[in-house]
Amino acid sequence: MVADKTADSTQENQTMDVLSSTRTVVRTALEKLGYPDEVYELLKEPVRMMTVRIPVRMDDGSIKIFTGYRAQHNDAVGPTKGGVRFHPNVTETEVKALSIWMSLKAGIVDLPYGGGKGGIVCDPREMSFRELEGVSRGYVRAISQIVGPTKDIPAPDVFTNSQIMAWMMDEYSRIDEFNNPGFITGKPIVLGGSHGRESATAKGVTICINEAAKKKGLDMKGARVVVQGFGNAGSFLSKFLHDAGAKVVGISDAYGALHDPDGLDIDYLLDRRDSFGTVTKLFNNTISNQDLLELDCDILVPAAVENQITKENADKIKASIVVEAANGPTTMEATKILSDRGILLVPDVLASAGGVTVSYFEWVQNNQGYYWTEEEISEKLNEIMVKSFNSIYNTAQTRRVDMRLAAYMVGVRKMAEASRFRGWV
Ligand code: GLU
Repeated sequence: MVADKTADSTQENQTMDVLSSTRTVVRTALEKLGYPDEVYELLKEPVRMMTVRIPVRMDDGSIKIFTGYRAQHNDAVGPTKGGVRFHPNVTETEVKALSIWMSLKAGIVDLPYGGGKGGIVCDPREMSFRELEGVSRGYVRAISQIVGPTKDIPAPDVFTNSQIMAWMMDEYSRIDEFNNPGFITGKPIVLGGSHGRESATAKGVTICINEAAKKKGLDMKGARVVVQGFGNAGSFLSKFLHDAGAKVVGISDAYGALHDPDGLDIDYLLDRRDSFGTVTKLFNNTISNQDLLELDCDILVPAAVENQITKENADKIKASIVVEAANGPTTMEATKILSDRGILLVPDVLASAGGVTVSYFEWVQNNQGYYWTEEEISEKLNEIMVKSFNSIYNTAQTRRVDMRLAAYMVGVRKMAEASRFRGWV
């Protein structure tokens, strides 16, 4: 019991840190843009936060009560938008921080949305299909009054996928009494999902890597890349980079990491990976996730969880480009160390914005009832990501700030402006 409590409080401390450093950067960005303090007072918390209890009948006949959250950060620009994660470590604080990040992402890629985020405290690795369906439907019933295609639009996130989106969409359509595909994105294609949504986050990261490599004069053919995390983003990303001629010299999952200076056989690893992104359990000669981050390489992509690059290891990072595919993998102190060392850090709110961008395309297609091809989606995503990368890069250069602060300045501006026009602050 005591051990559990310690683990819980360490987890909560870490997410508190993530939330408070996000707030610090938001405050600095608003100050740099010349906004008064009350704008920060509004934006430091979600405008709406709902906590729900979800009873589910488990396979053994017992009833288990799960806790879920939905945070709506700011809806001045438009409906809120963001994923729902299923994870045992989900906390209210984490969901709040993630909703702020979603607002920033939407601002960076200029979507007509504010940020939202949801989470359920559960471990899908230990649940049956039927139990997962029960939690998914129960969550939608519990939050149905505050979500909807013009209010708040959920999507996949950590350990949630198109099947879960389908159950959620079906439940919402029953409550609403009409077929409502625009309620949620990341759906299977046959239910109104978009081509290219599943690989969209990784595509967006790949576009950022290519742009960053151009700035650093690095040829992507033969460039050595390390990817931490082999979930949705990490696995698609490894494949895209491998197919483009880069050498993926390291990958990892939650249990360990693999390293081969000559390049790993990505197709083989993808083939052996399970649906939660686990693959290293099949190997004996693994290294730790911490060692992975310090490997000799040109590009490092943390695509797993928060707080991976810290003041303890930032000095030891050998890559010249770090691209954050995960949310919050680099702490504030580490961000400073990396940028002082001249490492080009592409922040999470920019690098991982491809997912919500294609979610936006999905929602637009649902609203118009006319669907685009994979090529059309890919072209539109490319245009938006290249433009967003360069606008942040140029802001960083002209305002002499690091890429994270530049991204926050670009991300927060529209939401601050919209909140003022509405007369809120
Ligand atoms: N969960 C993804 C993110 O964090 C996607 C959100 C969405 O598609 O709305 O960006």
